[in-house]
Amino acid sequence: MFIDSAKIHIKSGDGGAGAVSFRREKYVAAGGPDGGDGGSGGNVIFQVDDNVSTLADYRYRRKFAAQNGKPGGAKRCSGKKGEDLVLRVPRGTLVKDAETGRILADLSTDEPQVVLKGGRGGWGNVHFATPTRQVPRFAKPGTPGVELDVQLELKLLADVGLVGFPNVGKSTLISVVSQAKPNIANYHFTTLTPVLGVVERGEGKSFVMADIPGLVEGAWEGVGLGHQFLRHVERCRLLLHIVDVSGSEGRNPKEDFRIINEELRKFNPELAERPMIVAGNKCDLATDEQIASFRQFVEEQGYAFFPIMAPIHEGVDALLDKISEELSKLPPIRRYEVETEPLTPVEHLPRGEVQVRKVSDGLYEVEAEWLLRVMQSINFDDYESLQYFQRVLLQTGVIDRLREAGIQEGDTVSLYDVQFDFVE
Ligand code: GDP
Ligand code: MG
Repeated sequence: MFIDSAKIHIKSGDGGAGAVSFRREKYVAAGGPDGGDGGSGGNVIFQVDDNVSTLADYRYRRKFAAQNGKPGGAKRCSGKKGEDLVLRVPRGTLVKDAETGRILADLSTDEPQVVLKGGRGGWGNVHFATPTRQVPRFAKPGTPGVELDVQLELKLLADVGLVGFPNVGKSTLISVVSQAKPNIANYHFTTLTPVLGVVERGEGKSFVMADIPGLVEGAWEGVGLGHQFLRHVERCRLLLHIVDVSGSEGRNPKEDFRIINEELRKFNPELAERPMIVAGNKCDLATDEQIASFRQFVEEQGYAFFPIMAPIHEGVDALLDKISEELSKLPPIRRYEVETEPLTPVEHLPRGEVQVRKVSDGLYEVEAEWLLRVMQSINFDDYESLQYFQRVLLQTGVIDRLREAGIQEGDTVSLYDVQFDFVE
């Protein structure tokens, strides 16, 4: 069975707790604090694996968690970082937030994608010694990892998608133009899983063709087997519509052509706009009049038409040349934009207690549970995100509290594992 969607639960690792510990050495009466920091929790990462062609692995095992960070130790030992969890998926997999449908990652490239970041490790008590507090008997807990239900959805990546009624010769064509070996049989729905084949046409002209199981009328509503496969044509740059031009199964080729196009349009109106080339197959069973009449019918609608006999490769070269030529003019395969979470307007943020503590000269520490959640949505490498964070600190009164505590320009503010210089 071809599994192209799965819902799983993922969790990144919790950050390890900081340690409370004091130096104990021979002949040293009262050692200072030496509790190390906790390790950060492991990330949840998705990665393309070209040896995996379906999401079947995720059908039976549905809970995945990265490792937690280890607590810090004595002698300033930092806890070990939790191991990342790497989930391998077929190329073309989308990772979506199951609740909102927001796209978290598009696995089309080899680049590993971090979908959930691990929690931050807590500071050990070594950070909390001050001239007046020489025996800090506390450390920070780590922050928890993130848990999320995600929907995995495979949308195959191919240049050309074959569409058409069952039994018109789609599998036969892909088997003669590529190394792909789909089942070919004289009954409907022989192709139950999409098949990808590389069509070698020399330097810069080769392309990937996908044989998508037969569409039938009503496919978009879930009739027959077409529906679950329609999404795989969504990313194809070009559609190759194959029609049995001889009407050997008692259907009318013009009617077939119209019905399939209608199915595509109902599933996704964008698909109806997708560039399409038409191949009339089974020409050995058709009369010249049938072929000429069908050619006129599709050419009038603006499509290029190629009569072929797939099993004996007749007409196929001209068809492939045309496909290469069209592909060279089309934009590359569609990638999905990863949608970043909209930032909550500052006035709608939940607020709570803020603790500000002077740790040592020039170092102030802020503690606020509610702010931790805000920080989870901030990308500290991104300018806009940072500006937003500054607004949050200003408008929620955190900056005022720092001033009250006596902070000066150039001092350091420590907010969990984020540190920044205080500027007026
Ligand atoms: P698909 O369902 O569209 O993938 O169709 P298949 O490739 O499985 O072909 C269905 C049947 O049509 C098989 O028995 C093929 O051998 C036969 N077939 C395919 N192309 C031609 C052709 O050009 N002429 C004739 N006579 N039969 C063909
Ligand atoms: Mg087939």
